[in-house]
Amino acid sequence: MRIPDELIIFGRIYQVQNVSPVQTLEGVLGAASYRDGTIYLDDEVDMALALSVLWHEAVHVAQQEIAGIIDEAQARWIALFVHTFLLNNPDILDCYRYGIDDAPFDDEDEG
Ligand SMILES: [Zn+2]
Repeated sequence: MRIPDELIIFGRIYQVQNVSPVQTLEGVLGAASYRDGTIYLDDEVDMALALSVLWHEAVHVAQQEIAGIIDEAQARWIALFVHTFLLNNPDILDCYRYGIDDAPFDDEDEG
């Protein structure tokens, strides 16, 4: 299992690029470039940390999309919440994969 190369967030495709280091700043394991449509992930981290960082950066993209601002504290708690929720309740993913007939964002006419 590996992190996907692309993620769709609110209908826009983001490239996921593994780089190391992401920044020269110590402790920075990810970054989201809303303008470039790219999420950068440190390729030295293990899967659990990579997923957690991915959630964090995806939240930043959502913040930019919804509110036009970045809120670091909010990104931290949402990423931590979603990551641990999915770790503790993995069966919920099957409901998304196999239990929904019409995905809510698939309807192009909706809007
Ligand atoms: Zn952040």
